[in-house]
Parts: sequence; C-alpha cells; structure tokens
Amino acid sequence: MTVSSESDNRVDEVSVPIQVVNGATRVVGVFGYPIEHSRSPAMHNAAFRQLGLPYIYVPFSVHPDQLSTALFALQSLGVVGVNLTIPHKEAALGLVRHITREAAEVGAINTIHSTSDGLVGDNTDGFGFYAPLQSLWQPDSNSRAIILGAGGAARSVAFKLVSEGVHVTIANRSLDRAQKLADAIQQAGYRSVDAIALADRPAVAASIDSSELVVNSTRVGMYPEIGEIPEIPIDALRSGQMVYDLIYNPIQTRLLHEAESRGCRTLNGAKMLVYQGAAAFERWTGVWPPVDIMEEAVLKG
Ligand code: NAP
Repeated sequence: MTVSSESDNRVDEVSVPIQVVNGATRVVGVFGYPIEHSRSPAMHNAAFRQLGLPYIYVPFSVHPDQLSTALFALQSLGVVGVNLTIPHKEAALGLVRHITREAAEVGAINTIHSTSDGLVGDNTDGFGFYAPLQSLWQPDSNSRAIILGAGGAARSVAFKLVSEGVHVTIANRSLDRAQKLADAIQQAGYRSVDAIALADRPAVAASIDSSELVVNSTRVGMYPEIGEIPEIPIDALRSGQMVYDLIYNPIQTRLLHEAESRGCRTLNGAKMLVYQGAAAFERWTGVWPPVDIMEEAVLKG
C-alpha cells in the first residue's frame, strides 16, 4: 500500500502492511467500560499486521452487569481471548474455569484465554512491570524497593518484587489498604512486607533512602492532572536510584522529571503496557510479538 502526503509538495511513500479481515480471521480483544481510550487495539493490531497473522483485536464496551454474559459468549463465538480492564479485572475472578497462580495472588485477571477446557484467567501485569526493569536493575538478596500506592497495579508490582526476593515497603494514602496488601503477601507465603502511610514523611523518607527502586503506582500525575506529583519528600531521591512510574499518559510525569533532575535513572509505564500485552499476545497466538512495533503504536497514541 502506498500512502502519499503532498502537504508540502513532497510525496512520501511508506509501506503499511494491510490487515485483511475475512472468514479465517481470528478475534481477540479487550472488555472495558468505558473502552474508547484504550491503546491496546492499536498496539496489538500493529503487531498482527507486522507479523501477517490472521488476527484482529477489537475493543468491546461491556457494561459491568453484562460481564458474565459476555464472558460466557466468548467460547460460543470462537473468540480466542480477551484482555480485561477497568472495571472488570476483579469481577472476572469467579467467572472463569481456571485461574493462574499470578491471577489468584493478585486477585485480578487482565488476560483470558479460551481453551478446550474452558476459560483460563491470567494476570500479566507483574510480568509487564518486571520485563523492562530487568535490563536496568538486577536485585540481590539485600535489595529494597518502596511502592507508592496499594491499588490494583501496586498488587501486581508488590507480588512480583517479593517473588524476586526484594524487601518491599508499601506506602499508601490509606494505611489500611497498604496493610491489607502486606497481609495478603505474607499469607501467600512470601517474606514480610512493611506498610506505611504516605503521609508519614519521616518513614517514607527513610524508606526511599534505603531503597534502590522507587515505584509510583498511584494515579497521581496521570492525565489530566499532569502537574501533580505524589506527596513524598522528593529530596530523599538520590543519584543512581531507579524511579519507575507506571503512568504512561503522560510519558514523562512530573515525578520522573524531578527524579531525572536529581540524577536518578527512570522508567515510564509505556513498556509495562507493551509487555503485559505482549505476554497476552503470546498466550493467544503462540508467537512472541515485535515489542518495538507495539511500543511505537502506544507512543503514537
Ligand atoms: P487503583 O486500583 O484505583 O489504585 C489507585 C492508587 O492511587 C491507590 O493506591 C490510591 O490510594 C492512590 N491514589 C489515588 N489518588 C491519590 C492521591 N491524590 N494521593 C495519593 N494517592 C492516591 O488504580 P490502579 O489500577 O492501581 O492504577 C494506578 C496507576 O497505575 C494508574 O496511573 C494507572 O494508569 C497505572 N497503571 C499502569 C499500567 C501499565 O501497564 N503501565 C498498568 C496498570 C496501571 P488509596 O488506596 O488511598 O485510594
């Protein structure tokens, strides 16, 4: 296919692989409510096109009252699998035949795969979080990390880090929620995790100081509140520390900006989005996707 751009009297020719939809096309997608702003369709379809795979990824706007019906229909319709996003991740737990250890621990499903033995619910967020980090940071048995937040994303991050042997502190606005996550991790048989209130500045400063990794898994700084920054003692950040913000809109949050200006190494949430999607892609197709193409599609969005 040739695309012409004559706006500046030049004709650019770029090669765009075409996605053919026909009777042999296999369907995957995402259930969410709302779903209009999801970047997953662009990301997955770019990878299908690149590899010439006969798949299409479709956004499904599924009302919470209809989740059970929609999941039930997947196998009748021959849908290969779906991702789940807000508000379905927890609700789906009781609606599939099998769940993986990751989904059970985190208490949420983000990927469903239809098999001959029924629907399998999995959670690839922990993998998505850790895969891009691995090339930048290799923890040892003394490594410490502080996680800001105790919501759904923080659960995946916390379970992944403790399973890698990292000493974790969870700092959340609501101490009660942080403590519940710490208790769940201990009950699952991992080493104990500290829970502190985000408002406890001395405790947060001490934890940041002793940590090699600082993860923001709160919503603070996410579009449209892009001027916001988590209320932490920012001067506790030090050069060489790794600061990972799970937010991908915007790509460069104020936290990452402040961290960079203090000499920290930084990572934004775009690659996590790509790698959690890549793991789902592989479950559905048996093929590892071109993550660079997926990332390009996310960044274009
Ligand atoms: P969630 O379950 O709603 O949890 C939100 C968290 O943010 C809670 O810990 C909440 O604290 C905290 N929070 C919200 N407003 C706050 C404020 N004003 N001050 C301090 N803390 C505040 O959300 P989630 O699903 O975990 O998502 C969290 C972030 O991660 C979002 O920005 C999301 O975009 C990002 N994320 C990225 C990826 C990726 O692939 N890159 C994947 C998942 C999520 P309380 O418990 O006190 O309310």
